[in-house]
Amino acid sequence: MSMRLPQNVMICEVAPRDGFQAEKTFIPTGLKIEIIRALAETGVRQIEVTSFVHPKAIPQLKDAEEVVRAVEDLKHITLRALVPNVKGAQRAIDSGIKKLKLMLSATDSHSLSNANCTVKEAMDAQEAIVEYAQNNGTEVSGSISVAFGCPYEGRVPVEKLLQIISRYRSMGIREVSLADTTGMANPMQMHQTLKTILDSFSDMTYSMHLHNTRGMAFANALVALEHGVTHFDASIAGLGGCPYAPGATGNIATEDLVHAFEEMGVSTGIDVDALLLVAEKTKSILGHDGGSFLLQAGPCSRLHEKPTGQHKQG
Ligand code: ZN
Repeated sequence: MSMRLPQNVMICEVAPRDGFQAEKTFIPTGLKIEIIRALAETGVRQIEVTSFVHPKAIPQLKDAEEVVRAVEDLKHITLRALVPNVKGAQRAIDSGIKKLKLMLSATDSHSLSNANCTVKEAMDAQEAIVEYAQNNGTEVSGSISVAFGCPYEGRVPVEKLLQIISRYRSMGIREVSLADTTGMANPMQMHQTLKTILDSFSDMTYSMHLHNTRGMAFANALVALEHGVTHFDASIAGLGGCPYAPGATGNIATEDLVHAFEEMGVSTGIDVDALLLVAEKTKSILGHDGGSFLLQAGPCSRLHEKPTGQHKQG
């Protein structure tokens, strides 16, 4: 049996949104900009730079406009931002965002705690955001949080995902991010879910957003890759969390995902050594990482000196 994998993948860096919003202490705007600009030098082509939520909801991202305006000149990068409503879409587009990402939960419990409305109400409200974006010639992608497991409702039936994808599709959206927000997906479930989704709606682009809460993120990414999925989110230094999901920890670290894919011969277009330097810089700015193997062990290419007779390893 041979493993058939795509030759190229697209990794979107999400730490400036997903990672930073989980930080308790406000990261000075200048440092956020510095990290985004450093990321832009590594070969990354898409960065989720912020979220245009109400500043009171997530004070960490209250500087959304300022951040976007300061990196808007990075023309080789698709700057993506989360928008929860038309007001957010308006702010995002006015500051120079080229791609909007909608937020939606797979379950009512998560939706109610996150957005204060049911999934159906959230979907209805998104029609206006999509219309606004389309009138302004701005690309919009959809996303489904807790797509595989919900911290309140447990395993999410695939039918719920199909309903949401179908609705997105009828709005004219062609890219949907499937988010394992609290790291509850397992590889077998990933296989079954993707098979059903791809059989039902094969004309959509699916992007995987995998948190490594229980150490299953890379295994899940590999299954997605085997299904031909080529879009992944990842977060430098493994930063991340979810303010509305108890116990949620970071995304799969960008350096870990890039390194693993490149080792397997799957091209990411990203320079892993350059990325590692940004991960180290980010870690030193924040004072911690979010669980990054590469920050710990370095890439496989970093060989060590052979032990001499006196220093035999056990
Ligand atoms: Zn996330």
